[in-house]
Parts: sequence; C-alpha cells; structure tokens
Amino acid sequence: MLQSIRGMRDILPGDARRWRIVEDTLRRILESAAYEELQLPLLESTELFTRGVGEGTDIVEKEMYSLTDRDGDGITLRPEGTAGCVRALVQHGLLFNQTQRVYYTGPMFRYERPQKGRYRQFYQVGAEAFGLAGPDVDVELMLLGRRFWQALGVEHLVRLELNTLGTPATRAAFRAALVAYLEPLRERLDEDSRRRLDRNPLRILDSKDPGTRAVLARAPQLPDFLDADSRRHFANLTGMLDELGIAYTVNPALVRGLDYYTQTVFEWVTDALGAQGAVCAGGRYDGLVERLGGKPTPAAGFAVGLDRLVLLHEAVHGALDGAAADVYVCVLEPGHQGYALRLAEKLRAGLPGFRIRVHAGGGKLKNQLKRADQCGARHALLVGDAEVADDAPVLKDLRADLPQRALAVDGIIAALRAGVPD
Ligand code: ATP
Ligand code: MG
Repeated sequence: MLQSIRGMRDILPGDARRWRIVEDTLRRILESAAYEELQLPLLESTELFTRGVGEGTDIVEKEMYSLTDRDGDGITLRPEGTAGCVRALVQHGLLFNQTQRVYYTGPMFRYERPQKGRYRQFYQVGAEAFGLAGPDVDVELMLLGRRFWQALGVEHLVRLELNTLGTPATRAAFRAALVAYLEPLRERLDEDSRRRLDRNPLRILDSKDPGTRAVLARAPQLPDFLDADSRRHFANLTGMLDELGIAYTVNPALVRGLDYYTQTVFEWVTDALGAQGAVCAGGRYDGLVERLGGKPTPAAGFAVGLDRLVLLHEAVHGALDGAAADVYVCVLEPGHQGYALRLAEKLRAGLPGFRIRVHAGGGKLKNQLKRADQCGARHALLVGDAEVADDAPVLKDLRADLPQRALAVDGIIAALRAGVPD
C-alpha cells in the first residue's frame, strides 16, 4: 500500500475540524490587533535561508529540504516563515519608512526525527512587526500569545520564558568568551556541542547532555556582557509585563536556534507534550532586514507551532463532536432527487452553520437512515411521493423519540433553528 512520507501526516476530517478551530481562533485574535495577513510561497531560493537563518544553525546544516530545479537553481521548501516574510516585504518596498504588522499561516518543512509534536511537515502561525524598536512591541507580541492560550482554554498549561541576547556586539563578545572557556574543555562536551563550538557556540547552552551541562555550570554568563541600552530595553520589557500581569521566568539559557535574534527572545513552553515543550517561539531580530538586502529596520515576531497547540487543545478538551452532518435528506423515490436537492439548497440558505447532506445512490429508507446515523446527523428529512405532492417533507429527530412531522420549508427552518445543534 502506498504510504505518506515519514513525518508528513494526513489530517483527517475529524482532526481537521479541531485544526480549523485552533487556527481560526489565532487568526481572529491577530486580526483584532490589526495584524494583516500575508501569503507567501512554500519554495524560496536556498540562499534566502543560508543568509537569513544562518549557516551554523541546525536548520541550515541538517534540516532543509533543498533541491535543484530544472533550471539548475537551488531552491528550498521553507523551514520557517520569517525569512520569506522579510524577503517579500523588502522586495515589494513595504518596509522603507513604514511600519508593518503582518501574519501568515501554513506548512513548514524540516528534516527532523519525527515524534509526537515533531514532524517533517508542520504548521505555523507567524506574526511579525516591522519598524518598531521599543520593548512595547515585544510585549504586544507576548500579549497576543496570552490571548491565544486564554481563548483556547490552555493557558494553565503554558508559561512564558524569556531572555535577552543584547546587541550583535554583546553576542560577539559573549561568544568569544564562551569559546575561550569551552575550548580547553572540549573533550568533556557531547558530540553535537563539540561541533557547535566551531559553528554556533551559543546553541551549546541549549544542550541537554549532563556532561555538557556540568561544564556549562561555570561558563561565562551572557547577562554580564550586556550594554546599558540592552539592559534598559529588557528592564522596560519586564516592567510592562509586570504591569500587565503577564507571568514569566527569565531563562538565561534561552538562546534560540536562529542566528538573527537580538535583544528579546522568548518561548511559550508546556510540560504537557514531553520533550516537545515549545508551542511558540519568537524574539527581536533587528539585524535581519538589512542582512536580506533592506534598509536597517527593527523587527520582532513569533511563530506558534500549530501541531503542538492542537495537541494541547485535545489534551484539555478531549474528543470533539464527530458528526459530519446535522441534517440528512432521505430520498425515497429516485424521481425525487431533484426535489431533494432543491430542498437542501433552501435549507442551506435559511440555516447558516447547519451542515446538510443529501442522500445519493437510492436504496431502502432503512439503509438511508443508517447512513444518516453514521454521519452523526441529528435530523432526517424524508422526501417521498406524499411529501412532494404536499410540498411538505417529513422531519424526523434521530436522537430523541419525538413524533415526526410534515412541514413546509419555512416550518422546517423554524423548527431546526429553534431546536438545536450548536
Ligand atoms: P524545537 O526546539 O522544538 O526544535 P525550534 O526552536 O526549532 O523548536 P522554531 O524554529 O522557533 O522552533 O519554530 C517555532 C515553533 O514551531 C516551535 O516553538 C514549535 O512549536 C514549532 N516547531 C518547530 N519545529 C517543529 C517540528 N518539526 N514539528 C512541529 N512543530 C515544530
Ligand atoms: Mg528545531
């Protein structure tokens, strides 16, 4: 049997409904904060990511789906959205002397080891704010996160961690000190960290290896390298979070995998999904626009991992109502198919939100009612000779033992509207 590719999942109808609920909730909240949607290509030039995400990162080193197209150009399935978003805004001249607040949704691709909450095709909702340098924008992004979790009822499972990386100069000085400290201890580091020592030493701070962690205990600390402006930015940020009642912990080990972050970095993390703890990650990346060919532009953003958020939603809310339809129209005589289809159209127009399915393929009433039951419909409408002659289909409640009634279309609409489904 043909199978989907490892790490690339089908989201089947029952699950897709939960996805829609989660994604729609995020969209609604982003729109309410006047973030504008942007749609971006899934394929970009490979160079965008080597430049934008950074050569030494896990993503560029070992996670990209890159290929050469028929023209010989190097192209890559996007592993994240920020680089493409910046590319698009620079390309269309939308950043120069302007501020922008935008969001996008869709699949990202990374060649990783698949496990619960970690896939090779996964989905993000990303939001980015450009042209605004102050910590108030960092806070705005965190407020959006808080509203997401509250609206989805998962706020008790998610907490905010943050850190500051300072300016590129801060990072460079810290990086040099860290390498100087770690180099003589190289042999005590795990293999990944040894490799990172040459390419992306800050990422070593993320290591979970006990030996490496022991070495790190006495390593230089990034906060000691922060300049006065960076300290002020961070103090203003935490001050506003306190004012707004957003709880957070400062995690000095939080450095994020991407090269482009400056100043604020943050993650919303959960303990409910095992090792895949981050449901949303973001920060400030003041250097990226320039690095991708634009004028220097301050910027900050985040990406929510939808796959993980959907898992959290499921953990809290359990199974959703699995019904595929609310009303099932049974057609008792083959000649009445046209009447049934017209009836369904009137009901769909009069009952927004109701899902109305018309039986197709004929067969006995008993079998049609079995289909109605299988799709979870609450009501059946019977269309037979008498019903067509009177223009009054019979409405039957499939879940409660109520008398069935022949009603004109308006009567059916009124009865269903008064009568339920959510
Ligand atoms: P992780 O440390 O879990 O690998 P990351 O730092 O690589 O995450 P980001 O690039 O910051 O992740 O992406 C933002 C969010 O996207 C993550 O917090 C996570 O929720 C989600 N995410 C990242 N990679 C995956 C994946 N392979 N499968 C599912 N979700 C993912
Ligand atoms: Mg990762």
